[in-house]
This record gives sequence, C-alpha cells and structure tokens, in this order.
Amino acid sequence: MSGKEQHYINEAFRTNWIAPLGPNVDAFEVEFAKAVGVKAALAVSSGTAAIHLALALLNVSNGDKVFCSTLTFVASANPILYQGADPVFIDSEPDSWNMSPQALIKAMQEAGREGNLPKAVIVVNLYGQSSKMDEIIEICNTYDVPIIEDAAESLGTTYKGRVSGTFGEFGIYSFNGNKIITTSGGGMLVSDNTEAINKARFLASQARDPAPHYQHSVTGYNYRLSNLLAGVGRTQLEVLASRVETRRNIFEIYYHGLADLPGINFMPELENTRMNRWLTTLTINEAESGVTVSRLLKSFEKENIEVRPVWKPLHTQPLFQGCQYYPHEENNHVAEHLFKSGICLPSGSGLTGEEQLRVIKCFRDVFNKTIINRSYLILGKHEV
Ligand SMILES: *Cc1c(COP(=O)(O)O)cnc(C)c1O
Repeated sequence: MSGKEQHYINEAFRTNWIAPLGPNVDAFEVEFAKAVGVKAALAVSSGTAAIHLALALLNVSNGDKVFCSTLTFVASANPILYQGADPVFIDSEPDSWNMSPQALIKAMQEAGREGNLPKAVIVVNLYGQSSKMDEIIEICNTYDVPIIEDAAESLGTTYKGRVSGTFGEFGIYSFNGNKIITTSGGGMLVSDNTEAINKARFLASQARDPAPHYQHSVTGYNYRLSNLLAGVGRTQLEVLASRVETRRNIFEIYYHGLADLPGINFMPELENTRMNRWLTTLTINEAESGVTVSRLLKSFEKENIEVRPVWKPLHTQPLFQGCQYYPHEENNHVAEHLFKSGICLPSGSGLTGEEQLRVIKCFRDVFNKTIINRSYLILGKHEV
C-alpha cells in the first residue's frame, strides 16, 4: 500500500457506500480507462471474472474453440472451461516468452481448413512483457478472430508507445494481492466498445432486466468490485508509475548482480517496449553453468527465500489433458524449455536493497562465485 488508500476507505464508511457499487467504483473505472487510454472500463471482482465476461460477450459457448497462450497461470484458461468451450494451446517464442506468431498461424491454418476457427484468442503478456502484438493482430485480423488480451501481469507496460492490454477487442487486468498494483482482489475489463462494456456491467450484476420487479432473461454473474476496494484501487493507480520504476530498478540490481554468471539469461525486453518487470525471471543453462534449477531452488529454500519456477505450461497440466497444442517449431517446445530452465526471483515492490543482496548472495554461493560488485548496487531507493 502507498499509505494514502485509507482516505477513500474512510470516505466510503462516512457515506455508507459499503456495496459492490458506489462513487469509488464509478471513479475508479473512469480514472482507469483514462490512464490506459480506452473508451470504457468495468471494475470486477477478479481478473478471472473479467476474462469470463469477455468470453461471454464474444458468445463463446459449448464446443467452441478458444486459442490461449500455454505458458501462463491457469486463470487465463479456466474461463474457457466455464463456457464449455475447448482450449487450444499456443506455444511461446524465445524473444518475449509469449505467444509464438508462427505457432498461431499454423493453428489458424489448420482450424480454417477444418472450418472450425476459434471464437477468440487469449493472448497473455507474461511477467510484464507484451506479446508481439503487431504480428498477432495481423494473423487474427486475417482470420477475423477477436483478441482478448490478458494483461493481468503487464499493467504499466507499453508496446510501441501504447499501453499493454489495449490492443484486443477486450483487455483484462488483475488487482490480486501479488500484482503490480492491488485491491487485495479485483480486476478490470476494458474495451473501446462502450456498448460491450455496458453489456458486461449488466451480466456482472446478475443480469437484471430493467423492470421494477426482479426479472431475468439470461444467466448473470455476481462479479462487481466492492466500493471499498475500488477506493484502494484509485490510490494504487496513482502510484502505478512509481511501482513500475521500483520493479525495473529491482531488475537492474539483479541483472548487475548476476549477469556475469555462466549460463544465466534474463528474460529479454522486447524491442520497442517498456515492460513493468513485474517479476524478474531468468533461465539457467545447466550445461553451461553446471548448476541445476532444482539445486538452486533447494538452496533458496534453505535460506527461507521464496524463489519459484516459471508457470507450468497449461498443455502439460492434468486439467487440460487431451487438449490441442501447437509448438513454436516441430522440435522446439519453447514453453516447456522455459518451464524446465526458468525461475522467478523475489520482486515485490517492498523489497529492500539488503534483502535483494541476500538473494544475490545466495544465488552466487551456489555458483561458488561469492564476490559481489557492490558498486552496481546503488540505484535509487534500493541503495544498500
Ligand atoms: C493473476 C492472473 C490472472 C487472474 O487474475 P485474478 O485477479 O487473480 O483472477 C489471469 N492471468 C494471469 C496471467 C495472471 O497472472
């Protein structure tokens, strides 16, 4: 928290707006839409709910296909199952770790030949990195398939000067506790299609028809964001830019503290993007470094430092057994490789310089390269 959130919470208590609607919700939506540069936004209870609403708005239903990035958190694809549709997973490419345009083309060509094109493509921007949106948009336009951009992790990132999450028919963001800004739990659905966002607002409020009695013609959901939490969101939005600075700083420190080690490759930053570096992630080439990921993870665990593997690709999850999957190249499964060789380092905005130094030291100890060049570690508020 930035410390100023209490103001809007107090205001909500004072005016007794303790409900999933109210002035903070309305203001948060307007302020958010302005901040990312879209015509309309709907504040909802989670990023998952926002994806679900986007699929419902695109009339995704039983037996439809939906394409989705395979290297992601399960929340990207769960709503496909809620709608009774069939996910088809698309591999990553090495430059961005995100959806491979060449795998996407292959999947589209095959689906086109079968006369069974997907109803939507869910493109995920992982760890704050934008996907190659120009290429992906071109492919989707060719086949006239709408894009849902899962920008849960990439709020604050820009791709070619434009805000990540605003490229598709719909974009979704998350304010879960672990995201770059948070309302404890919450999400946002955005679009330039104001009519669609209004329809989403209707669906997210139990789809109540305009009648004085309670009348319902379609299935609705209870997906609105609390007016208390929207107050937190308004203040968090004000500190987004500084959160991005902090996370980029954290990345710089890790980079300078570790990049000299053999076989280490940090997630690259895609050309013409400025990413939020939500998490600092890297891969370890076991042959070059002589260090295995599991050994590294064990050493961190011993030090009580939480270091996590990269997301397990969804096409390898028991939940999605039997689903179609398109690799980057026939013998090049990029997401599986990233899962086997990748780790995420502690990257919270509250991380202190001393804590980061402890992570770097533990990392270097495993490589038997204990010397840290402290002169690199003088960066803004993370000065140590
Ligand atoms: C966090 C996350 C979500 C879901 O957001 P919630 O608000 O937790 O429902 C979806 N996709 C990705 C990639 C995420 O990281």
